[in-house]
Amino acid sequence: LFNKQLGQHILKNPLVVQNIIDRAEIRPTDTVLEVGPGTGNLTVKMLDKAKQVVAVEMDNRLAAELTKRVQGTPEQRKLRIIHGDVMKTDLPFFDICVSNTPYQISSPLTFKLLMHRPMFRCALLMFQREFALRLIARPGDELYCRLSVNVQLYAKVEHVMKISKNSFRPPPKVESSIVRLEPRNPPPPVDFKEWDGLMRILFVRKNKTVAANFKSDSVLKMLEQNYKTFCALKEIMIDADFDIKAKVTQVLQSVGYADARSAKMDLDDFLKLLYAFNQEGIHFC
Ligand code: SAM
Repeated sequence: LFNKQLGQHILKNPLVVQNIIDRAEIRPTDTVLEVGPGTGNLTVKMLDKAKQVVAVEMDNRLAAELTKRVQGTPEQRKLRIIHGDVMKTDLPFFDICVSNTPYQISSPLTFKLLMHRPMFRCALLMFQREFALRLIARPGDELYCRLSVNVQLYAKVEHVMKISKNSFRPPPKVESSIVRLEPRNPPPPVDFKEWDGLMRILFVRKNKTVAANFKSDSVLKMLEQNYKTFCALKEIMIDADFDIKAKVTQVLQSVGYADARSAKMDLDDFLKLLYAFNQEGIHFC
């Protein structure tokens, strides 16, 4: 009956549904974005509380079912259904996002929301437990990774509640968690591509020293290429004896991170390091 490819696991436990709604703290003036409303168990509860719910659903059969569910009710005019793949949809304005979305799109959806402008107030999202734990991981935690720092750069992240697989029909294979994201407003003044380029290098082996991660030939080659492009654009002459390895070492030593390990570094450490590299014309994209 349900489409596995679309990750259709319907939230059947009314207590859990109510709990999520309560935690969302929806205001009567809010426009709520829901991704993948399915049969609408969360949707109908949110229609009670919000000014409007915009629901993006890819499965036409479920979208039709949801339309029918609200037909003839006073809430009908508050619901707008967008048929389609959320990843290919231009999202309208929303104050908050509440959704139990398929886990295949957890990561791209999270970043799509975080890059959305104007910024929303908060999002309550259902994720696979391990993904949720990665999102909230702090320096020193086992699951601290590139995903943790990239998301935490843009939002405060909080674990809200665990949801057992038995709350869904059919039950998924994995346990789930609800996570709350509150975007940092204003967002940090960083070029995300630069930031992510540095994180890719540092989190290849997060328990090695920063200096060790910068020893890789492919990394040095990429940085040298970027440096040459940068100098060409700025019309800067490159010294005949220019050595990218020496330059990288010099930056790492000047900021004191050569022997640090990314597993234990926080956002401020990474921002300082990125700034120091960029000051010397070293770019990561
Ligand atoms: N929200 C409902 C609930 O909690 O009972 C259903 C949740 S089910 C895990 C995920 C829903 O997302 C399904 O209705 C599925 O059709 C829809 N979906 C899957 N991929 C999607 C996508 N890329 N864009 C929009 N909706 C999608």
